[in-house]
Amino acid sequence: MKLLVGVKRVIDYAVKIRVRPDNLGVVTENVKMSMNPFDEIAVEECVRLKEKGVAKEVVAVTIGPKPSSEILRTALAMGADRAIHVEVADGSTVEPLAVAKVLRALVAKEQPSAVLLGKQAIDDDANQTAQILAGLLRWPQAAFASKIAVAQDKASADIVREIDGGLETVSVKLPAVMSVDLRLNEPRYVTLPNLMKARKKALETVTPDSLGVDITPRLEILRVEEPAKRIGGRKVESVDDLVHKLKNEAKVI
Ligand code: AMP
Repeated sequence: MKLLVGVKRVIDYAVKIRVRPDNLGVVTENVKMSMNPFDEIAVEECVRLKEKGVAKEVVAVTIGPKPSSEILRTALAMGADRAIHVEVADGSTVEPLAVAKVLRALVAKEQPSAVLLGKQAIDDDANQTAQILAGLLRWPQAAFASKIAVAQDKASADIVREIDGGLETVSVKLPAVMSVDLRLNEPRYVTLPNLMKARKKALETVTPDSLGVDITPRLEILRVEEPAKRIGGRKVESVDDLVHKLKNEAKVI
């Protein structure tokens, strides 16, 4: 079976985000960019399924500007077989609906048995793409997977999902869309020799136009603000002191 895995280039999780002076976005110039952490987990799972002999081919896809090809090289170094870069102009916004439409076009071309995505991209925190894609394709979906077990006949998969207060196991018929959660696995480190080897793997570049997809944004960002600064905590001497302060200073009880 073939697996398609979506990877997004985002600001590295360790970078301190700064809001742009025009309050319409965040500063992305001269900032370290990396593969979205949840997407690393999705790639790792695909590679493990290949190593177990469940999957035959893993195809990594990204939709983004020219430098996004770097994260495809990372996916290839982790073990993906080939990659597709859907290149868009620098600075263009690609909303989850547009990403899902592009992925739908690639699904039509590639005919995978499953599409694995991260549960959310840590830049916009949308948590929408997998769900929209499943809707567009009319495929079953299993979001927030913390365990994926493909049946022997590869006609279905059992997925453990992290839900409020516990775990839920669902069975989906394949083909299906899955979004992966933090505890599914621990992605491997990319080694330099593997990065070098990855240079020999196929990386195809296409455009949304060539796939017949219009990526024009539907949303307008009105304002982006920094979160309110946290006020430092205080120590209290006793429970009585705490109750007194909650009553008279914070006025919350
Ligand atoms: P989101 O719905 O934006 O939170 O993203 C959820 C997941 O969809 C991500 O973790 C990726 O797997 C995938 N995805 C989102 N945007 C892109 C993109 N531009 N290129 C490839 N995959 C993407």
